[in-house]
Amino acid sequence: MDESLHCNWLKCRKSLLVEGKAVATTCSHIFCVSCAETLFNGNKQCPACKTVLDQPDDVVLSSLNPSADYRTSVLAGLAPDVVVDIAARSLAFWQYQTSQEVSERTTEGQIACMLPGAHPAPTSRSCRPPSKP
Ligand SMILES: [Zn+2]
Ligand SMILES: [Zn+2]
Repeated sequence: MDESLHCNWLKCRKSLLVEGKAVATTCSHIFCVSCAETLFNGNKQCPACKTVLDQPDDVVLSSLNPSADYRTSVLAGLAPDVVVDIAARSLAFWQYQTSQEVSERTTEGQIACMLPGAHPAPTSRSCRPPSKP
């Protein structure tokens, strides 16, 4: 399974792991940095789901390849229940994103199948009953 996130802006869909940084929202969407600069420039709405994002922590730049030091310090000092809560939210985010990827791929596959010529038409030979010896 492809364990990478893609920019949720449909015109972009860039793989986010390459850049290592992305802008995540509290409505479980994630965008590449260059899209986010344009999309959130004076706009307090999620371009994917139209949720209003007017709180300071609604849109955050996150590092997707955090250093060991960052991992050590980012949750340090937080109470265990807070740590677990953050982890649960992050997992829900990841689950939502990967399920979106799967449904998108399925839709693309279905469209491909409906297009004429996507699959070779059965040849007349294969439709004929087997010839007698
Ligand atoms: Zn993008
Ligand atoms: Zn959203």
